[in-house]
Amino acid sequence: MTELLSNYLTGRWQNGSGAGAVLHDPVLGTELVRVDATGLDLAAGFDHARKQGGRALRALTYRERGALLDAVGTVLKAHRDTYYDISTANSGTVKNDTAVDVDGAIYTLGTYAKLGESLGDRRYLLDGEAARLGKDPLFQTQHVLTPTRGLALFINAFNFPAWGLWEKAAPALLSGVPVIVKPATTTAWLTQRMVKDVIDAGVLPAGALSVVCGSPSGLLDALQPFDVLSFTGSADTAVKIRAHDMVARRSVRVNIEADSVNSALLLPGEGSDSPAFELFVKEVVREMTVKSGQKCTAIRRVFVPETLYDAAAEAIAAKLAKTTVGNPRNETVRMGSLVNRAQLISVREGLAALGQHAAILFDGANTALVDADASVACCVGPTLLGTRRTDNSVIHGTEVFGPVATLMPYQNTAQGLDLVRRGEGSLVASIYGSNHPSLSQAALELADSNGRVHVVSPDVAQLHTGHGNVMPQSLHGGPGRAGGGEELGGQRAMNFYHRRSAIQASTGVLSGL
Ligand code: NAP
Repeated sequence: MTELLSNYLTGRWQNGSGAGAVLHDPVLGTELVRVDATGLDLAAGFDHARKQGGRALRALTYRERGALLDAVGTVLKAHRDTYYDISTANSGTVKNDTAVDVDGAIYTLGTYAKLGESLGDRRYLLDGEAARLGKDPLFQTQHVLTPTRGLALFINAFNFPAWGLWEKAAPALLSGVPVIVKPATTTAWLTQRMVKDVIDAGVLPAGALSVVCGSPSGLLDALQPFDVLSFTGSADTAVKIRAHDMVARRSVRVNIEADSVNSALLLPGEGSDSPAFELFVKEVVREMTVKSGQKCTAIRRVFVPETLYDAAAEAIAAKLAKTTVGNPRNETVRMGSLVNRAQLISVREGLAALGQHAAILFDGANTALVDADASVACCVGPTLLGTRRTDNSVIHGTEVFGPVATLMPYQNTAQGLDLVRRGEGSLVASIYGSNHPSLSQAALELADSNGRVHVVSPDVAQLHTGHGNVMPQSLHGGPGRAGGGEELGGQRAMNFYHRRSAIQASTGVLSGL
């Protein structure tokens, strides 16, 4: 039998009492480890985190908590090679894709460690200036942000087992709030190992960090009024979470990061030989292929002025044709596999659904795999679809979570921006062009329907951070179908873990805050 990974709860390692779910290598098909959370006393574990972990973290200043994040980053760096091996085995990712997850996590921790240093020796934050409540200035109101006395429960998606933990845990721990993470079962190994290394290193106070691997059953029932819940995953699961009785009854604060049909749009006025066109094509191809398209921020819909439709199709297809797909252990392979067979089936079904409404401009089904058995490996080549009929709601509403995008033409800028908005709220849209005023205007037009607008012009060709890369300094999350959540964005992320309250008092009292 494969090794059973332990859960860390109530300050000790505990095995589930069931048979557990087996995690697989999606390229070789071999069994790796098992996870199970059957029979854990979740209520006791959550209570321990709130009482022990919360108390210990709140006793520290932001500077001291920042130093904890720094220490966590040092532990993770020391074990980086192991994380790369686990990611290759369990997620089927090539090294560059693992870096997005593992090194992205370490970078995010470092950014919040520095923020802690800059917030200094405080344990709470002031929110704005004091305001008079009447004619006499003696009695005023001051808003304050204090860490919630509950815990932060993270229910995470399979595609970022490393970054998905730490991009949430960094602002939570910095805020003084203990963390319990429940990784997606399919890729729980990497999350579990990172938590294990940090716990073994003894760099965090008791109760500050726990991990529960396996079924989510019972987790939401254990939540209390001051807890917060951060969910990343599909829109369908998000609906169940929002509707959960305990979440509703206890007013548990919930952040949802769901799926999103993100866009890339090339503005008019650029020829097919222009630098902006080249940057646009390069980014579309990169976004389709990084992590085999299993990124919530990946480009799914691609818009060009109608005169450039054929040129764009040709240029994107030519680059996709160079993508080598297969076993990530082979150095020549650029794109590894999907995470499991269920995702492979889901991508094939999604392609079939989109294929009812769009033509295939580049067919990934013909891609020969390198060093991988097509009957075992969950690999799929990149596919570019295209349609000149842009009013189709299936195209605007279907997220195929793989290396798939659909090209569409638009007639004028206003129509192009309208088509981007047909995604009904996205995590990110990117726009490409060389005219700065037109780019500013388009960015503002898209800001309300996209959590982030990524603008690529030739002057930042070497500097821009990429359409799909989520930087800790920038907001992550989008309105509408993207879940309505907000993460990261520097200090903004800490709002979720703090409670805002008004203190009304004499200025003599307020000056002591
Ligand atoms: P998922 O099936 O919704 O699962 C997400 C998490 O929810 C997993 O940990 C899962 O546990 C858990 N879960 C499932 N049913 C639950 C329930 N009834 N109550 C509580 N938790 C439950 O999503 P996924 O397949 O892992 O991830 C892919 C999706 O996530 C894509 O649609 C992608 O767009 C989205 N995503 C969004 C973002 C973002 O930041 N917006 C980032 C990454 C991914 P088990 O694994 O044990 O079932």
